[in-house]
Amino acid sequence: SGNVLSVRELRTEFRGGRGNVRVLDDISFDVGRGRIVGLVGESGSGKSMTALSLMGLVPKPQGQVSAKSINLDGIELASISPDGLRQIRGRDMAMVFQEPMTSLNPVRKVWEQVGEPLRIHQGLGRRAIRDRVLEMFELVGIPEPKARLDAYPHQLSGGLRQRAMIAMGLICEPKLLIADEPTTALDVTTQAQILRLMQELRDRVGTSIIMITHDLGIIAEMCDEVNVMYAGQIVEQANVFDLFENPSHPYTRGLLASIPKSTESRIARRMPSIPGMVPNLARLPSGCRFRPRCTDAMAICQTREPAVTDLEKDHRARCWLHARQDAISQGEPL
Ligand code: SF4
Ligand code: MG
Repeated sequence: SGNVLSVRELRTEFRGGRGNVRVLDDISFDVGRGRIVGLVGESGSGKSMTALSLMGLVPKPQGQVSAKSINLDGIELASISPDGLRQIRGRDMAMVFQEPMTSLNPVRKVWEQVGEPLRIHQGLGRRAIRDRVLEMFELVGIPEPKARLDAYPHQLSGGLRQRAMIAMGLICEPKLLIADEPTTALDVTTQAQILRLMQELRDRVGTSIIMITHDLGIIAEMCDEVNVMYAGQIVEQANVFDLFENPSHPYTRGLLASIPKSTESRIARRMPSIPGMVPNLARLPSGCRFRPRCTDAMAICQTREPAVTDLEKDHRARCWLHARQDAISQGEPL
């Protein structure tokens, strides 16, 4: 199929003293081959949790991940064993995090860490690993790559560390790279360079990427398709043009309306804010979970959770404003 990843009805719950909290609910989306797909939302909306759930990195036993299907290019991850998933992770599906310093070991040379997936998944020897890391350093644009192989993480700038982490993510030529706020910790110039690098890698190597960000500017520049997340659900899904041209969920509209104009600082643009707060997932409001912040709320929004409505091809929203009238009056699940 044209999809590298197809997720259906992903749910993640955490067991706590006062019962279970569902942190992700009914997450369904696709990532096409060679596409960059965004997950965008405020912090606490479930973006990172979605990535961790896909990667099998949700802490156990408190965290429980279930799904109707998580299909990674023909491999069904929803029913795979922990051992099977360990084989996939870093080989077929890799992740790049926000702050590379915390995911690097300070006392190991960079090349050994970047090459670690080759040791684990392909059993290569040190010579072959070192050669391959050098190739990857060239690919991701690390200057003087040979001299950088034996560096320790603190000897690299933040931007070079993030390039090294991207090299590590790509070293086994994964089908899918998940980038969780990969540039948030970087200065504006370096941020632009890293984003350009990721686009080049998509164009040259054909890497499919899930781009997690709270920055709508990054979404607009980078992504083909977008999933807007709110309180553990995807509330709107569209290609990037439709999302910006015709935002349909009140949350998306609020986010777009709150983007400061270009004369204001980029920092401000990165943090759009609309009135109110993301609800506590253990104490969700009745009906629609966006209702306390929604300026369009209707009576039905208080009593019934909205289901997903198709608006046009590949554009859907989870909101009563767009539900079929007959479905609303008959009270049927959509
Ligand atoms: Fe607002 Fe109702 Fe739509 Fe929820 S379902 S976003 S409360 S209009
Ligand atoms: Mg996060």
